[in-house]
Formats: sequence, C-alpha cells, structure tokens
Amino acid sequence: MDFEAVIGLEVHVQLKTESKIFCSCVNRFGSSPNTQTCPVCLGMPGVLPVLNRKVVEYALKMGMATNCEIPRFSQLARKHYFYPDLPKGYQISQYELPLVEHGWVDIEVEGNTRRIGITRIHIEDDAGKLIHDESRPVSYVDLNRTGTPLIEIVSEPDIRTPEEAAAYIRKIRQLVRYLGISDGNMEEGSLRCDANISLRPRGTEKFGTKAELKNMNSFRNVQKALEYEIRRQTALLLDGQEIVQETRLWDAGKGVTHSMRGKEEAHDYRYFPDPDLLPVEISDQWKEDIRQGLPELPDEKRKRFSAQYNLPDYDAGILTVSRETADFFEECVRLFNNPKTVSNWIMTELMKLLKQVDGTIEDCRVTPAYLATLLELVDKGTISAQMGKDVLKDCFESGSDPSVIVREKGLAQVSDESELEAVVARVMEANPREVELYRGGKKKVLSFLIGQVMRETRGKANPKKVNEIFRKALED
Ligand code: ADP
Ligand code: MG
Ligand code: ZN
Repeated sequence: MDFEAVIGLEVHVQLKTESKIFCSCVNRFGSSPNTQTCPVCLGMPGVLPVLNRKVVEYALKMGMATNCEIPRFSQLARKHYFYPDLPKGYQISQYELPLVEHGWVDIEVEGNTRRIGITRIHIEDDAGKLIHDESRPVSYVDLNRTGTPLIEIVSEPDIRTPEEAAAYIRKIRQLVRYLGISDGNMEEGSLRCDANISLRPRGTEKFGTKAELKNMNSFRNVQKALEYEIRRQTALLLDGQEIVQETRLWDAGKGVTHSMRGKEEAHDYRYFPDPDLLPVEISDQWKEDIRQGLPELPDEKRKRFSAQYNLPDYDAGILTVSRETADFFEECVRLFNNPKTVSNWIMTELMKLLKQVDGTIEDCRVTPAYLATLLELVDKGTISAQMGKDVLKDCFESGSDPSVIVREKGLAQVSDESELEAVVARVMEANPREVELYRGGKKKVLSFLIGQVMRETRGKANPKKVNEIFRKALED
C-alpha cells in the first residue's frame, strides 16, 4: 500500500524587540547568566506584567505578511506546566483568542507552487534555559531568556513532503527577515520548529494518528526527522500496527526519533485568561498604520523583478531571497544598466565566492558600485569576461576597486591595432604551415593561431580584435 504524509508545523520565532515581552529587561542573547532579569520575568509573587506594544506590532506584521485576519480583540492566557526553567509555573500565551488567524503562504518545491494554510499566530513568553554540568550531577538555571517575546505560527496540516516542510520554514524565515522582526536563525534557536506528522493511504481523506517531533535545529534535521518518521510509521502500518499519538525527540547523532512522552502523560495545561492582562484591542487605525509601514514582501518583489527588469522567474526568485540581495542587485543595475548581466554575475560568480566563505552579501567587500565598475570594464572590452572573474575574486578578497586592480596588475586587454598587428605578423611568420592550411580552406586552424597570440600577450589581447586582424591578414 502507498501512503501519503500529512504534516503540520508549529514554528516559534523569537522577536528582536529592545525589551522583553512583559517587563523592561533588555532582550539580548549571550550575556552572563541571570544578569538580565527583574522580579517580573523571575516570576516573583505580586508583580504585574505589562504587554510590550512592539511585540503586538511585530506579530501583526507577520499576520499581514501571511495573509491572515486580525480580529479586533484577543486575549492572553496562562498555560500551566512545571519545569525548573519556568519560574512563574505558567507560560503567558494565547489560547481561544489569538492575535492573528486564518491565512496562508505560498511555497515552491521543484517549480510547483503550493498554498499552505496558516491556522493562527499567537504571542507568548519564552522560558529560561537549563545548563547541565557534564562533570557533576547538577543543573543550573539561566533566566536571561525568560520573557523573550515569541510568536508561534501554527500551520494547517497542508504539507505533504519533507521538502515542502523545509520550503515552508524557509518561507517563514524569509518573511520574518524581510519584516525585520527576527534573525530567524535556526542554529541559534531564534527560529524553532515542531513537526506533526501522520500517514494515510494515498487517495483517502481521513487523517491518521499523528506524532509530534521536537528538537530539530536545522532545515536538514527537520527534513531528515520527517523522512525517518515516514519510514517508521510506514513500517508499523504495513505490519498492521497502530500509530500511538505521542511526542518524539529527534536524535541528530543517531538519525532516529524516540518517544519522549505518550498520550497518557499528555499535558493538561489548564489554560485560562490571564487576569493580570487586559484583552488586547487592535484599532483599525493601528492596523492601517502598520500595513502602510510594511516593506515590499518577497512574492511581490519577485514579480516586480521579473516584470521591471525582464528577468526569468528563476533569477527573480534567487535575487529576492533576501532584501539585502535584492537591494544589492537594484543598486548595481542603477549603475550598470544591464539587468540580466548583473543577475548572472551575482547568481553565479558572486554567490559562488560567498558560498566558499559562508558569507552574506551584506558584509561582502564587493559593493554594488564595484561590481558595476567591473561589468563596465568587461563590457568595454578593457578586460575579458574570464579576467573579470579573476578580478572579482581579487576584489572579493582585497576589497579594492576593480579598476585599480586592473591598472595595478596591468590586466587591461591590448586593443591597440598596431600593437596587435605586429604580434599577428610575428605569429604568422612563425607558423607558415598553419597559414597555408588556412588559405587552403582549413579555417579551423584560426583558433590555434589566435591561441598563439594569446600566449604571446599572456591572455591580454582582445580576442575580437585579434580575430579581425587575422582574417584581414590571412585573406590577403
Ligand atoms: P495539538 O493540540 O496536539 O498540538 P493541534 O490540533 O493544535 O494539535 O495541531 C498542532 C499541529 O498539528 C498543527 O500544525 C496541525 O496542522 C497539525 N496536525 C493536526 N492534526 C494532524 C494530523 N492528523 N496529522 C498531521 N498533522 C496534524
Ligand atoms: Mg502541539
Ligand atoms: Zn524582566
């Protein structure tokens, strides 16, 4: 029997606001343990939380970017559980009335676009962190992270393959980065994903029993955990066994998931509206103001790039991967008005160099102005395209202006007629046999003769000019 996977993702995103969600502690990663806390985020008795307006604004931005509805009222709710990194004994989250609901994003896998529904987006506070001592049987608690603002984005079970799951998370990361509301860095934990997956016989409607997978801290791991889980559940179903509803942890080292807790131990969170926090009311004016301030989002930008610069959709997709890449491209085109050439050089040469050092375009030493200068030099024939690649590499490493590199290294092509004519004459004299062959109709030897000129000029002769001069000289 052939099974189809049904996948829904819960993505947590840490928001990069200045302060925490319910107190004025600074919201920053990496300070020494327990230096960024106050009675509110430490969960002392008698304190009162105050909702950070920026958190609501960021969550609304994400809601708008994912085509969601924004109800007028929403409510914060207490979600109770016991854990040493949660001093209040409950998380402040949202339950019945989330801030944002009912939207969608489009993802693309192998050229096919699929629409994935967004069930809801709600805001909540993050817990602290336990640090386990390797040498002794003790654990420490760092509460700096307590109260870090999070949004949780819950998808509909619309995802069908591990590749689609990875594409969906990439899309979420791209959106939070475009909006500037989070670093969206999975490895550092500012974007975390739980994956729910069940199988059903292909062609049927009814969902099977799902397992929830946790602890995957990279795109690769999400994909691998889902692939493993499809194999595991398929084997069980083929064997006539039932899937147990449970939470499973991904073990990246072993490449397997194992059961963390079953349904019997499933949490009863005892949700109820937080009496310390008023319902949140979103006015139409505020919504409008936020909408006005949204940047151009990736799907729109991609469409505009295709139309305005007459680029293939593939190019437009790559150039709009990040706002920084898109801005780089547009600035470069402003200075060197040949969009397809600029696109080619960014997509192949520049991205290759960036990949080698695992760098990003925003902290790259090649500026849009430098790339434009380089393309100008190639366009005018001052250097060949091949040399252009070397000059780009040099510029990438040294940060020097391409025109300076060309001048200082004496790379400019020789286009001077009389100089080239002299070299061509020398080459013809030294290779009388080839000249005869050419004149006898064997036109192919021309490339050999041009190669000789290139060797003499150490690659600096302008090949187009050399070609012309040869033809004239040989036809005589
Ligand atoms: P829970 O209360 O167990 O967290 P939810 O109904 O809130 O479950 O759904 C959590 C996530 O699981 C959502 O992303 C949803 O799309 C997904 N989901 C729900 N049912 C299934 C299923 N049968 N198979 C796969 N994913 C599912
Ligand atoms: Mg869940
Ligand atoms: Zn605090």
